[in-house]
Amino acid sequence: MCGIVGYIGKRNATPIIIEGLKRLEYRGYDSAGIALLTEEHLKVFKESGRITELERSLPTPKETFANIGIAHTRWATHGEPNKINAHPHVSDNGGIAVVHNGIVENYLNLRKELEKKGFQFVSDTDSEILAHLFEHFSKDEDDFTIAVQKALKLVEGTFGVAIINKNNPGKIVAARKGSPLILGIGENEFFVTSDVGATIIHTKQVIYLEDNEVVTLSEEGYDITTLNNESVEGIISEVDWDVSSVDKGEFDSFMLKEIFEQPISIENAFRGRLSEKLSTARLGGLNIRGDQLRKIKKIQIIACGTSWHAGLIGKHLIEKLARIPVEVEYASEYRYRNPIILEDTLVFVISQSGETADTLAALREAQAKGAMVLGITNTVGSTISRESDGGSYIHCGAEIGVASTKAFTSQVTVLTLLAVLLGRMHHMSPTKGLRFINELYKIPAKVQQILDQNDKIAKLPLPLKIPQMHSTLGVE
Ligand code: GLU
Repeated sequence: MCGIVGYIGKRNATPIIIEGLKRLEYRGYDSAGIALLTEEHLKVFKESGRITELERSLPTPKETFANIGIAHTRWATHGEPNKINAHPHVSDNGGIAVVHNGIVENYLNLRKELEKKGFQFVSDTDSEILAHLFEHFSKDEDDFTIAVQKALKLVEGTFGVAIINKNNPGKIVAARKGSPLILGIGENEFFVTSDVGATIIHTKQVIYLEDNEVVTLSEEGYDITTLNNESVEGIISEVDWDVSSVDKGEFDSFMLKEIFEQPISIENAFRGRLSEKLSTARLGGLNIRGDQLRKIKKIQIIACGTSWHAGLIGKHLIEKLARIPVEVEYASEYRYRNPIILEDTLVFVISQSGETADTLAALREAQAKGAMVLGITNTVGSTISRESDGGSYIHCGAEIGVASTKAFTSQVTVLTLLAVLLGRMHHMSPTKGLRFINELYKIPAKVQQILDQNDKIAKLPLPLKIPQMHSTLGVE
């Protein structure tokens, strides 16, 4: 799943979109492309390789001037990474362009049916069927948004899509199911993106679309509906990240910058959440009463990747301080193995982005079984934060580096607060609680002390023999 950026407004879409794509580069991708809509033309440019290649391949600014555009960075799932398979994909009549994140599971069946109707396919992707499907449904439907709704109802799998259509001038239509899609609201201009980081320099006012929602954007405004064409209001949230968090500043990489931000990010994770008077932690957003929390006999922590590792530390702390058994589960397996949730089981899901698809599916499975599910995420307004019954934000700001650093330490900090809170409800004395809190306060300074020795550490000789690692990170 990779990146989408779209723009509609009075400014030239091309530089805004290219800049937005560059902010998504950190996610990794194999090709990139852009489609522009002017009054007369739909223009599509794509390249395999880096965004700079795409930028270089663009003709003159005059030829790429448009007030409406959509763009994509692709991480191939179906069809090799090359220029033909890169998005946007264009419909047979050349009028509709589509960018898609996700996977169309039933694309082979849909492709066969469309081929029978005479549609010609040029790529090996699952995504191309969407362009033809939209064209097919728009033949008998004047309202293009309704044609999109009808087409998407046939799609099994996941999608974040943005679509422009020469016969639907002045509009972008976008929709989501299982892939994040965010509407950015500026002044007489709108953005559609898969990641707030792409447009945060333009606006902090966003609407996180829900699954099965479709938005139609024009320069004047936006209209959100469900796939069944029911009207949806859309809740506007304010992104609380600092604009500087999406800039590398003086550092060579985002990862290094984020490592150095840890004294502040750790402090932000516990700021205002510790009570010396009561020798405990306060996590207001949990939405669970003290007496309910006391009755919990088992905890499940569900997560993927780095968040899962934070969960392992959480297990250690909670079991040690509160003597409550904790299971740490892989989100990717949770819903497939019919997990046991008893009446007094409390479930936590952890995800930095709040959009991790497997973690979200696990959250829904646990809720379907009647469990109370609390989320630990970094992203205010994200799907997990909205769908969980309560939870706690880690407040570490945007994490761009793909190997998680500051989000991990902030997750561990929040889990530590949770362990103190539960511990104090059970066996932990006020004296021990206070000692713990006082030690927590010292951690940012201790991290700083280590970071201050960066130059010295960099000069240390590496061990002669680096142990062989076989990890999913691909580090060999
Ligand atoms: N499944 C699509 C493809 O392979 C989209 C992949 C993506 O999300 O980038 O083209």
